[in-house]
Amino acid sequence: MSLSQGRPYLAIPGPSVVPDRVLQAMHRPAPNIYTGALVDMVDTLLPDLKTIAGTGGEAAIYIANGHGVWEASLANVLSPGDRVLVLNTGNFGRGWGEVAAGLGAEVQQIDFDLSGPVDPARVESALRDDKDRKIKAVLVVHVDTATGVRNDIATLRAAMDAAGHPALLMVDCIASLACDRFAMDDWGVDVMVAGSQKGLMTPPGIGFVFFNDKAKAARAGAGCVTRYWDWAPRVAPEQFYQRFYGTAPTHHLYGLREALTMILREEGLSHVLARHATLARAIWAAFDTWGQAGGVEVFLPDPAHRSHAVTAFRTGVPADGTRLRDWMEREAGVTLGIGLGLAAPQSPEWHRYFRIGHMGHVNAHMVLGVLACVQAGLVALEIPHAPGGLDAAAQVCAGAR
Ligand SMILES: *Cc1c(COP(=O)(O)O)cnc(C)c1O
Repeated sequence: MSLSQGRPYLAIPGPSVVPDRVLQAMHRPAPNIYTGALVDMVDTLLPDLKTIAGTGGEAAIYIANGHGVWEASLANVLSPGDRVLVLNTGNFGRGWGEVAAGLGAEVQQIDFDLSGPVDPARVESALRDDKDRKIKAVLVVHVDTATGVRNDIATLRAAMDAAGHPALLMVDCIASLACDRFAMDDWGVDVMVAGSQKGLMTPPGIGFVFFNDKAKAARAGAGCVTRYWDWAPRVAPEQFYQRFYGTAPTHHLYGLREALTMILREEGLSHVLARHATLARAIWAAFDTWGQAGGVEVFLPDPAHRSHAVTAFRTGVPADGTRLRDWMEREAGVTLGIGLGLAAPQSPEWHRYFRIGHMGHVNAHMVLGVLACVQAGLVALEIPHAPGGLDAAAQVCAGAR
């Protein structure tokens, strides 16, 4: 008998669960877009966004999803024919490189073993080999949503400095911002991109590009920049409409204001990050316990490489990932994420992988509820699993391990 009636739960890695308060903040008549409350409110968003990013630099807001800010960021620093170095740790690193190629850049890619993070030594040697300094930017994801890997950005910066290379360091934090700690200025990041729909708990539709003075200087010589993507008027508008180069995304901005208030002024960023860390550990504790029977495991073997925003899993039998996802949605009202980029979509192997998003507005009862439903699915589908997974997760949530 299906037990899926009741509130559905979308436990995929973005869009994430939108808090009722954010939805209610959006539920209002259209505001005046020239003057007054909206204009004043938008001024309060920028310092809060910069606090979460860890930067004293600039922040531009775009009406765009993640792919849009990928393009916005590159268009402001590249000219056709420039070379970018793409660090591929899964689907998302590669995707940003494809956008660069579309702008006419020459893409040099290093493919890393997908079961771990970027190896800074390989980046350092690629940069040392670039004797003519043709590489204009290094593109990397903080957290790759396909594998769940988190890259160590400070170490990567150190490798670039060791090579004495002037390339910009550009980081995609779309999955990780407000989930995994990020310190843009301290880690020497020149450009960072993020979106509204993951850790920032707001519906998809607005994206952010953060940049420092070095990136601003690159903008002056960028041949790819177009009127719409140009970040210069957006961060120093003479008139309000220039912040968005047209009508402001009014209701998204009110939603974001509420989300930022919840993150920074109520819960507090350090607690938000600690909550994500603990809930992630609860998920890993359950799967690492169940996994002793060989039926399902966390994709990344080393917990030190795992992000606090999203986790990817692999089943022992190829079909079981899809069977479990289907069962969860049909019988329990929980939607899990598909596997992405770990096997060809046409191959049987594709059905081995699935993901859980644990980013943004999630708490202990949501995560423990998903895990209990996973266990019910493992039982119903006779997928081998060792006992004690839920106990292990409960102990993490209780602070006992
Ligand atoms: C979700 C995501 C994207 C793409 O965002 P869209 O809004 O789907 O365009 C890019 N990079 C990372 C790391 C992501 O998690």
